[in-house]
Amino acid sequence: MSEQRGASQWRLETSLVHAGERAAAPQATPSATPIYNATTYLYPSLEELDTAFATGEGYLYTRYGNPTVAAFEAAVTAVEVGRGAVAYGSGMAALHAALLAACTPRGETAPRPRCLLAARDLYGSTTVLLDELFAARGATVVFADLCDLAVVETALAEHQPEVMIVEQISNPLLRVVDVAGLAVRCRAAGTRLVVDSTIATPVLQRPLTLGADLVVHSATKYLGGHGDAAGGIVAARTGLLHANLVRQSRLLGASLGPFEAQQLHRGLKTLALRVERQCASAAQVAHFLDAHPAVAQVNYPGLPAHPAHALATESFGGRFGGLVSFVLRGGGAAVRPFVNRLTLFLPATTLGDIYSLVSVPALASHRELNPAQRAERGIADGLVRLSIGIEAPDDLVADLALALGG
Ligand code: PLP
Repeated sequence: MSEQRGASQWRLETSLVHAGERAAAPQATPSATPIYNATTYLYPSLEELDTAFATGEGYLYTRYGNPTVAAFEAAVTAVEVGRGAVAYGSGMAALHAALLAACTPRGETAPRPRCLLAARDLYGSTTVLLDELFAARGATVVFADLCDLAVVETALAEHQPEVMIVEQISNPLLRVVDVAGLAVRCRAAGTRLVVDSTIATPVLQRPLTLGADLVVHSATKYLGGHGDAAGGIVAARTGLLHANLVRQSRLLGASLGPFEAQQLHRGLKTLALRVERQCASAAQVAHFLDAHPAVAQVNYPGLPAHPAHALATESFGGRFGGLVSFVLRGGGAAVRPFVNRLTLFLPATTLGDIYSLVSVPALASHRELNPAQRAERGIADGLVRLSIGIEAPDDLVADLALALGG
């Protein structure tokens, strides 16, 4: 029997590659999950590797699962009270995956999108996703005002969709849907309910506990919260839907990387602190704008004039989210000077950060829609969206007051 050669007999080139690697994991448990940036995992024998493949237990290859990503998925599963979650490289990848999983008939593995019922004022790219990746491939996509339960009932009866998709608080008009009311009606119709909870966050509402089937987050926004990591995640109410997500994510390959998973998981820990502060400051900003003569209209569920103020008060425990949108009395022509005069609000095409941000939906989130589609969705040229950060609210109001003038 030949003797095994050890590290001390390796030549320089071999030592450079292998020396110092693959020490046994420490016996003590680290307080925060380390970043596991290995793409593959080793087993002591081929038999054990074979067992890991056969049972699906244990880590094999990072697209199939990664301990840092799994820690983030476990945290979101717990927070959303689901049966499992799968993380992706962006919110759009998460939405695509959620829609495919929801369109997979029970007992089958392949998605078969037939008919999807979608809220009319979804995030712009979600609308384009539905049009270009679902409708253009033969599925029927029906857009309707899903804030109105009478419209919902008619649409469910007429189209019998297999999936309904909504945002609890829509972006950027901040309309509010009744998730519990939708879930009851979807259940009765055999329709799966997908809720994009990016803006409401689990601090305001947890859709799975109200009967939704899948909850989606662009973790790039509030979950991460610091403007330094992109990602998305879907949590499932049932084991079956979670299994659909897992199987399909291995094929789609849009997995979250371990570095981003660690950053997003760290962000998640302060979500409640940040969102509470952002909601309180947003309320102060909304009341200020509502009283300002240069502002024609303010969209904020916390204002008594908002059409769903009563529903929002009941659903979100007295918080109304960290976004405020409003229409400048001067229309599209007034937008540029206003935005250019702001100094604290950063002009950026994202939301949910610790920094306060300003964006113009017609130029950013909804620019892929044509003017007729924008008008149909109520996206005026003078519409401005603010994402309130964690700065002192008085400073934010002072910045807005200067930019608005008068
Ligand atoms: N859902 C909502 C409500 C969003 O606002 C966004 C992005 O702005 C997305 C999904 C897409 O997320 P991502 O940019 O992480 O792909």
